[in-house]
Amino acid sequence: MPVRPRECVARVTATRVLTPDVLEADLAMVEPATLAFDAGQWVSVPFGPKTVRAYSIASSPRAPALITLCADVAPGGIGSAWFRGLRPGQDVRFKGPLGGFVLDPGDARRLVLVAEEIGIVPIRSIAGELAAAGFERPTTLVYSARDPAAPTVDELVTDVAALVAYVAGGAATIDAVRAVLTGKGLERKAVKWEKFW
Ligand SMILES: Cc1cc2nc3c(=O)[nH]c(=O)nc-3n(C[C@H](O)[C@H](O)[C@H](O)COP(=O)(O)OP(=O)(O)OC[C@H]3O[C@@H](n4cnc5c(N)ncnc54)[C@H](O)[C@@H]3O)c2cc1C
Repeated sequence: MPVRPRECVARVTATRVLTPDVLEADLAMVEPATLAFDAGQWVSVPFGPKTVRAYSIASSPRAPALITLCADVAPGGIGSAWFRGLRPGQDVRFKGPLGGFVLDPGDARRLVLVAEEIGIVPIRSIAGELAAAGFERPTTLVYSARDPAAPTVDELVTDVAALVAYVAGGAATIDAVRAVLTGKGLERKAVKWEKFW
């Protein structure tokens, strides 16, 4: 049953620098005390009446009192500046949980998870949830991070029978992955996507 999004307050408890451009923050929920969400969902941080930035929840729905967000701050806009400025003890406001980039628990198909760069964030939560739930069907993870030599979806996914794909990243990559998979015979609606940029 999807949870209705609501206004939330959380307190930053820790920040980590994963790479010079990729930062992570742990937020302890204050109001509500726990955030019910599905792996793959995101929160919306407000910066003005019509200005928001979305951040996927990197952590597990099994730990709803403390959520982790993870951002690539290279884009350098208001969202990046906000994330860079997060400090332990600070309260943050956001709306959530939002989004339908979530697994259907009744779906018996094999999975391919595709992440481009920071698009790994919702995929990390989804993959962690699969592991925690004891998911046993074959699953392929294709993660690309600016390495032109990295294996591609075309190389790694040869059989699209009974397959569903979850793709997160930039629009160009989503389009390219969809074209590769539909070219191999996968139906278009079997490619679920989350467009970050
Ligand atoms: C559903 C959803 C979930 C998201 N989850 C995350 C997340 O978990 N972590 C995260 O870092 N971002 C995530 N984003 C992107 C995030 O909302 C912001 O767009 C991003 O942080 C840049 O915001 P900004 O204000 O710093 O830059 P902006 O001024 O908004 O963007 C500057 C330019 O950079 C482009 N851009 C934005 N992000 C990237 C990127 N990662 N790589 C290359 N170009 C980019 C924009 O399209 C724009 O052209 C998500 C977006 C959506 C829609």
